[in-house]
Order: sequence, then C-alpha cells, then structure tokens
Amino acid sequence: KDRPRTLWETLVNTENNFAHKEAIVFGKTRLTYKGFTQLCRNTAAFLSQEWDVEHGDRIALFTNNCIEFCIGVYAAAKLGAVVVPVNARFGSAEVKYVLSNSETSVLIAEPELLKEVVEPIMPELPLLKHVVVTSDTRVNNAVPFKLMSNYLNFEESEVNVNEDDAAFIMYTSGTTGIPKGAVGTHLNMIHSMMNYNNIMETTHEERTLICVPLFHVTGFIAQLLHIIYAGGTVVLMTRYKTDLFTKLMDDERISYIIVVPTIYVFLVNYMRANPEYKLPKFKIAAYGGAPMAPATIKELSALLPGIRLFNAYGATETSSGPTTLLTPDVALNMSESVGKPVPVAECKVVDETGEEVPRGTAGELWIKGPIVIPGYWKNNDANIQNFTNGYWHSGDIAKMDDECYIYIMDRKKDMINRGGEKIFSVEVEEVLYRHPKVLEVAIVGVPDEVFGEEVKAVIVPKPDQQVDDEEIRAFVASNLAEYKVPKFVEILAELPRNPGGKVLKSQLRYKP
Ligand code: ATP
Repeated sequence: KDRPRTLWETLVNTENNFAHKEAIVFGKTRLTYKGFTQLCRNTAAFLSQEWDVEHGDRIALFTNNCIEFCIGVYAAAKLGAVVVPVNARFGSAEVKYVLSNSETSVLIAEPELLKEVVEPIMPELPLLKHVVVTSDTRVNNAVPFKLMSNYLNFEESEVNVNEDDAAFIMYTSGTTGIPKGAVGTHLNMIHSMMNYNNIMETTHEERTLICVPLFHVTGFIAQLLHIIYAGGTVVLMTRYKTDLFTKLMDDERISYIIVVPTIYVFLVNYMRANPEYKLPKFKIAAYGGAPMAPATIKELSALLPGIRLFNAYGATETSSGPTTLLTPDVALNMSESVGKPVPVAECKVVDETGEEVPRGTAGELWIKGPIVIPGYWKNNDANIQNFTNGYWHSGDIAKMDDECYIYIMDRKKDMINRGGEKIFSVEVEEVLYRHPKVLEVAIVGVPDEVFGEEVKAVIVPKPDQQVDDEEIRAFVASNLAEYKVPKFVEILAELPRNPGGKVLKSQLRYKP
C-alpha cells in the first residue's frame, strides 16, 4: 500500500480503518476517530469558507495541551495551511516576535493567554486578521472555538496539498539564542511518524500519554502525529504533574511514552519516595531531547522490569526524527550512546572545515535525509550558516564508533574551553549523577581571565540531603582529570528549564 502523502491523509486513513476507536482523550472528553475527524472537517470548512483561509496561510496555536490544538493541526493540514505552534510560556515580546515573523493571519489561543499576553500587543500585529479562543464564550472579539468546530453548513472541497508543502513552522526552543522558525513539510512529518512506527513496532493498540508540550516536536510528532498515524489513542495532560501522570498511566492503560529525561528523574524520585506505588506495566519508555544520565536509566529499568527502553536523538530541524535510536537490546550496556542513525538519516561527524573526521574523533554532527527540514522561515543567513548540501549542522559535538553508534558529547555552545583543554559538560555531569546525594546537575563554563573559561557545577541535592563544594570536587577528582574538576559549585533548589524540560544553561553562566 502506498504511503500517505499528507498529514490529512494519515488521519483519513486511520478514520477509515478505526472510525469507532478512541482517538483523543482529555479530561472527561473522549473522541472517536469519526468524531475527531468530523470536528477537524468542520473547522477547516469554517476557516476556508468564512475567513478565506488558503493554502500557505499561517495559523498560530497558542495553548497548553488541549484538544483544540489537535483539531487546529489537522484542520490546517486539510487546507494546506501552515501551523505555527507557539510556546505557551512565552510573554508578549516573544509572542509578538513569533506572530510577526511568521506573518500569521489566524490565531487560536487559550483565554488566559489571550487576555494576558496577546491583547496588549494586538495593535502591533497588523497581519493578524482573526482570533479564536478555546473557551465556549467570546473573549472580546475572539470567536469561540466551538463556533468553528460545530460548523456544519458546508460543502466539502478538496484542496490540493503537496507532500513538499510546508506544514508547520516551529520556533526552536531558544536555548542557544533568538528562535528560528524551522519550516517542516508534510513529507518530513510522514517520514518521522513512519520511522517511529516501524522502529518501535507500534500498532493501533498503542495508548500514549502526552505530558510534554504539544508545541515542541516530541509531543507534537513523536506522540500525537505518530499515534494517530498508527491508529492508537492519545491521552492529553495540560502539563506534567507527577500525581496526575501516575494516575493516568494506570487509568488509561498507557503503553507508550516518550518524554525528556527530567520527567524520568521526577518519576524515579517519586517511586523511591513512595515504595508502595507501582507504575503499571507498560511497553515502551522512550527518552530524548537531552542527555539522560546512565544512572537514571539503570534505576528506571530496575523499577520497570521488562520495559522496552529507547533513547531517541532528534531536533526540531529533524522533525523530531528520531535521527538516531538506541534500541532496547543495548539500552543498558550502551547507555552513553544515542544509538545508530535510523535508515532515513545520513549522519556524519565533521571538523570545522566540514570534512569528515576519522571514526572515534569528536566533531560536529551533520544530518541529511527526508526527516530534515528544508530550512528556516525567511532567514537566509541562518540557512547559509546551518545547512550544507542538504546536511543540517546539528550544533552537537559527537563521536561515531566503528559500528556507527553515536555519542553526543556536548552542544557546541556548551562545550567548555579551559585554556585550550576541551571539557564536555555531559562527561562531568554523568560522573556527578553517580554521586549518592545528587538529584540533578548542570555543568557550565564561566568566564575566567586566566583560562578563558572555568568549570562550574550547579547541583540540586536529593530531598533532605546536603552537599558541600569540597565533596563535589573530590568526587569529580577521583573520577576525571584535574582540569575537569569544577572550580565553582553552586547549590540550587531546582535548575532553570524551558517548558520542554531542557536546562537553560545560559542562565547559569555566572560566577557564584
Ligand atoms: P535551540 O536550537 O534554540 O537551542 P534546542 O536545540 O534546544 O533549541 P530542540 O530542537 O528541541 O531545540 O533540541 C534539539 C537538541 O536537543 C539536539 O541538538 C541535542 O542537543 C539535544 N538532544 C535531543 N535528543 C537528545 C538525546 N537523546 N540525547 C542527548 N541530547 C539530545
């Protein structure tokens, strides 16, 4: 059977096969594929007939995880419009940047975010023509979402959508600077979902719980789009909270999750503190988005016997991907690796001139293939800087071994250069994760007059534990070379993170 060409086709295929199966669950709402697809059709018809939304127009989604987000995605796809998921933690200045940069004409927003964040900047958004609110009642001039999703008076018309057409513009999380709009095509997303589906062997029996934001690729593609493509069921949480998460894992018989390592750290911690609590047996626990400490992986697999663990490495620019995958057979004994490239990803490790380096040597990881986006939205400089002959420059420093296993050592911008000695933060972090009193750690470089940069460790101790600087230094010194020992140690109650759960290292680069 031919593969689907567009995102809308993936939903229609699933509706044809599983019309009466549960598609999406959120709170008390439970929608079958028939019901969900109908809401998407109604919404698409409203947008095109009432507001003349056309192929290529941008529709922004500014919400926490909710059903309206999911409907918006497929309704836009049906029309060939481009969705722009906006980070729900953004303030007015960031939202103004994203909406103006993407030249968005329709905005779908949550009532509080609309009132507090968007209203004050509305006069500065001349291209924004229509606003929809995800509540049942109007908020100022914004139209309630239900008016669109209950729109029935229409003639269904098919828009010709091509697989190379843009489907989303996703602004990178900005851990390394001003967000860039990554433009992903239908083909990028189809390859990404097929990838997850093939390699993880997911079926229509899968039930996934989305607790990471839908406005980042992991929730959006690796869970929502992938599981709808497979014909499974998607359960939504507004945001991650351990109590609700563990309850839903049970009640909803979840079989597959993919989350950032932080959530597993929370979970392992919760299970340690509540020994009577047993997570229900589930099938696939995948992690990605940031390095996960081998110590956490070990503990997790001990707490969840029989679980299939996958380490998925990817980025917004690889449409989530995954680009490389560490499979369950080697998840434990090669836990420092992110696995091998998937069949549709070509990976190479290069030096500063773009030449491939010998196996085992560190360099920047470059990635090519149908999951890699064609480029950034209206940003020629970024396209020239970040792409070479179809290869996207990941900005990650990596090594590839003789069997093609890849090891991510650091992000280019996080690597510490101490008087010419390169220090990879992940290496020092992995050591400190083995310290019995350490819950979380981030290693960063801070400016130094003599060495250029010095190593700083930011430590979050386990509950009821106290650590001092000397203990931390001694622990690193007994495991690593002298120059890698942190000169500065700072103890914090928690690490600063973006909504995707990634540590914002830029906020930690000051001398304590
Ligand atoms: P910005 O580009 O604005 O800094 P970001 O890179 O954090 O944002 P994403 O595209 O969400 O935005 O993240 C991709 C990055 O996350 C990768 O380049 C890599 O550094 C890291 N990453 C992803 N998966 C893994 C993994 N399994 N192990 C280690 N690091 C990972």
